[in-house]
Amino acid sequence: MAETPAEKGLACPACGCHHLLVLRTRPHTGGRVMRQRECRNCGRRLITYESLPDRQGWHDLADMADLSESQKKTILSGLLQFFGRVF
Ligand SMILES: [Zn+2]
Repeated sequence: MAETPAEKGLACPACGCHHLLVLRTRPHTGGRVMRQRECRNCGRRLITYESLPDRQGWHDLADMADLSESQKKTILSGLLQFFGRVF
């Protein structure tokens, strides 16, 4: 693999699928975030540590929760404020 394991290059180690659902995002030491992900294809779970929160991750999180638009906005703004304080 030529790509570094960045957000867009991330692939399932079991099947190579790039559709990794974010199950959970938590602040981690060193200003990083820990994400638990699950492959949508084979169900393999993995943990990633990322240095910057990225908006796509928040969208994944909200999609999984199947929330209304207003609920998503509330959650997204809350998360961004939270990580704004962390960083
Ligand atoms: Zn997979």
